[in-house]
Amino acid sequence: MSLGKAMIHARKQKSAARAVALAAEQAASQHTMQSSHMLQLPVLVLNASYEPINICGARRALVLVLKGIARTEEEHGLTLHAQRNRIAMPSVIRLLEYRRIPHQTRALSRKNILLRDRNTCQYCGVVLPAGELTLDHVIPRSRGGNSTWENLVACCHACNRRKGNRLLHEIDDMTLLREPRPFSLHTSRQIMRMLGHGDDRWRKYLFY
Ligand SMILES: [Zn+2]
Repeated sequence: MSLGKAMIHARKQKSAARAVALAAEQAASQHTMQSSHMLQLPVLVLNASYEPINICGARRALVLVLKGIARTEEEHGLTLHAQRNRIAMPSVIRLLEYRRIPHQTRALSRKNILLRDRNTCQYCGVVLPAGELTLDHVIPRSRGGNSTWENLVACCHACNRRKGNRLLHEIDDMTLLREPRPFSLHTSRQIMRMLGHGDDRWRKYLFY
């Protein structure tokens, strides 16, 4: 890119970001609930390959589109009025350049295990608030089990007490609802599917 082009490019990016910032400011100052609500609407982000990779807020999606980093694939049907500009709100955007997504981007943590297991005890199936769940080592630590994605599951206190230091095959009627797996893109896609439940425009990208 020549210096001249680069400067024009930079200027375009700045003005695009400014347009969204202005719109957001205006929405906030006018207390137009509708506009500020619109900027928070979830937008599905696709890779250049059309693979869904993320969900972001409409405000961020608009910045990406106006900066020329992404393009709108599906419109929301709503229009944001900002001064003399009318901006069509995106529902699905696609990055113009392919981004490599690491196979496993989520850190192993209590929060992410609970998210993966959807706050569901993996033994009895009860759904509880995060604070009322614990993590269970499927193979107890005392028997050589490690703290890994494959050996940690969300568990209610009752099941945790009942299981104690035993292995599953040593207990009657106690099995895992499903095999614990790393929190992969596939799992993230399940979450996207749940979040996008109300938006039909997401459907074809999420392989319902
Ligand atoms: Zn349980």
